[in-house]
Order: sequence, then C-alpha cells, then structure tokens
Amino acid sequence: MREPYGRERTRMLEEHLRARGIRHPRVLEAMASVPRHRFVPAGARPHAYADRALPLRHRQTISQPYIVAFMTEALDVGPSHRVLEVGTGSGYQTAVLAPLAKEVYTIERIGDLQRSARELLEELGVPNVRYRVGNGALGWPEHAPFDRILVTAGAPAVPDALKRQLSPDGGLMVIPVGDADLQELVAITRAGAAWTSEPLLGCRFVPLVGAEGR
Ligand code: SAM
Repeated sequence: MREPYGRERTRMLEEHLRARGIRHPRVLEAMASVPRHRFVPAGARPHAYADRALPLRHRQTISQPYIVAFMTEALDVGPSHRVLEVGTGSGYQTAVLAPLAKEVYTIERIGDLQRSARELLEELGVPNVRYRVGNGALGWPEHAPFDRILVTAGAPAVPDALKRQLSPDGGLMVIPVGDADLQELVAITRAGAAWTSEPLLGCRFVPLVGAEGR
C-alpha cells in the first residue's frame, strides 16, 4: 500500500529543502522519515508538506519545513550528542532531532501540547526523548551541560541560563533572537568561558515566554 502523503513528502524534500540548499544527508534522511502530517491538526493535513508554518492549539505554530531543516542542519548534531530543545510544540522538530542525536531533552511550557507531542512520539516509537513541562528559558540544569541547544521560540536576548548550560567543549546553540515581530536566527558557540555568535537568517517565531524570555 502507498504510504499516506509519501508523494507530498518527496516533493517537500526536493522543492523546499534540496532546491533551497539543504544538503546534509542525515538531515534530509530524518526529514524524509518523519510523517509531518501526523503532527499537524487534522484540518491542516492537506497542507502538511507545503513550505509554511501551520497553526497548533493554544495559538502556537509548527514551523515551516525549510526552517526546521535549516535549523537542524545549522545545529550539526552528531550521534553522541545530548540535545536540549526548548519549545516542543507539536513534537515535529523533536522527531527530526531524535534520530540524529543520542538523547533529546525537550521542554514545553504548555502542558496540553507537551502531552499530545509525547503521546504521538511514543506511538511512533521514538525512544530517546525526555520530556518536561516548564520554562525552557531556564534550561534543564539537572542534565546540563548539553552539546547542542535548539530554541524554537523567539527570545529578546539569549537567556543566560542556556548559555551556561551549553557544553564548554564546543557546545553549539541555535536560537531566534530579536523583537516580537522579527528575529534573527543566531548560532552561538562556546569554547571554555568564551561565547561567539554568528547571525544566520531572518525569521519569525512565536515568542519565548517567561523568565529571561518575554
Ligand atoms: N518546534 C515545534 C514544532 O516542531 O512543532 C514548534 C515550536 S513553536 C514555534 C514554539 C513553542 O515554544 C510553542 O509550543 C510554545 O508554547 C513554546 N514556548 C514558548 N515559550 C516557552 C518557554 N519559555 N519554555 C518552553 N516552551 C516555550
């Protein structure tokens, strides 16, 4: 039997990812393996593989496929990496990160979203994810340091707690920083007590809410 939305997913890979410069084979493989239509509300399924953000419950969004792939590629995740993700949302980005990493620690402030993301990821058999409901701007100190940190909500500034929880041994964080309407995706690298920052791409995310966030 043909896989549901298989043709749409292939088109997403070719037209929205490869054609726009996403090259990393493991990132493309992960994007090819995750059934994005399962992570969007039922009414939005016909648009699941279009290159656009779609609405979730609680006025949140699932990011467009190109941005998910771009952020994942920029994060340069290796199989030994422990990754902190802030903003679980639908769980789609989590599902893309999980096969690339050793473990993903994901935090979401809205319990209802966290619950349904967790249920779906467990149903899909994604084993290496730990879940927490709370303010991700404070990180997850019990499991720090992290090799990689990915923030999928827009922050006014890089939260200090996340900088501190980045591994001093080449830790890398990708985070949208800016005002409420427009942010820049920034890559922050840590070497010992030094952090360097590189701008990557203009973007627009829902706000990172709470202490150290908005
Ligand atoms: N990556 C998600 C996906 O694939 O569906 C989309 C994330 S959505 C753009 C941003 C998410 O960040 C929302 O679910 C929102 O509730 C969450 N969020 C905002 N501020 C947060 C905070 N301080 N801590 C944890 N989650 C937060």
